[in-house]
Amino acid sequence: MSFAEVVANLADKSLQTSTDDYAVDGLLYCGKCKTRKQHRITLFGVEKEVGIPCKCRKAESDALEARVQGMNEEVIRDRLRQEGLTDEAYLNCTFDRDDLRNPEYTKTCKRYVEEWPEMQRLNAGVLFFGGVGTGKSFLACAIANALIDQMQSVSVTSLPRILSVLQGGFDEERKNLLRRIREYDLLVIDDLGVERDTPYATEQVYSVIDARYLAKKPLIITTNLTAREIQAETNLSRRRIYDRIWEMCPIRLNITGETRRGENAEAVRIEAKRVLEGKHEKNQTSS
Ligand SMILES: [Zn+2]
Repeated sequence: MSFAEVVANLADKSLQTSTDDYAVDGLLYCGKCKTRKQHRITLFGVEKEVGIPCKCRKAESDALEARVQGMNEEVIRDRLRQEGLTDEAYLNCTFDRDDLRNPEYTKTCKRYVEEWPEMQRLNAGVLFFGGVGTGKSFLACAIANALIDQMQSVSVTSLPRILSVLQGGFDEERKNLLRRIREYDLLVIDDLGVERDTPYATEQVYSVIDARYLAKKPLIITTNLTAREIQAETNLSRRRIYDRIWEMCPIRLNITGETRRGENAEAVRIEAKRVLEGKHEKNQTSS
């Protein structure tokens, strides 16, 4: 069969349904959407009709493609989540599970996600202060989950975990960890300050923070330390770490979790009203 014949055979008349018909131009039209199912080409001086998708068929195949694409994205997201959020507790920290006990901070964190490309450009990280149970880790992980939804690579980890790999892991594991510290779009280090405080560990912590600093990518840190403790640190090795973190995390949220009951209820009420009215802050204040 010649090439021309092969092409000619593409004029797939089997696609013809009972409602399809030939128009005055001699081409097949879809009975449903009334658009062409054939296209005429000239090949080696011979006119041939070749099959093309009509409007409705094109819509069908686009929808199928979008579905496949959506499935692929879901697979990628699952993988990002699996790799980045190794602790199962982190998976449940999402904005839609937020109890809104810190509504102002929730708003700021959502805003951070919305403005992520700009945050990346500015290399602006977040430092969450606050005692145990104030919800700072929750918010940090909610940012992580929301960015994974946007197909960003995020790693949520802790210094004890990083240090155990750096100190006890295999070469390959160590390399892998350092690569991830540099390459992830966002690195979240939960609970700074709980790691062992030996000169060696402090040196390792500095090398981790410094690797991220040199990669010029955002870092989010949560800590039980207070801003005062961080700023008043006199130990030189720790001072060096904190200075760097302070520079990398210009957005500093002091989550006290001490909102008085009445105040909190009022804030929840305002937030709920805002949501119910569908007023997105973004539309009001951005640009
Ligand atoms: Zn059609």
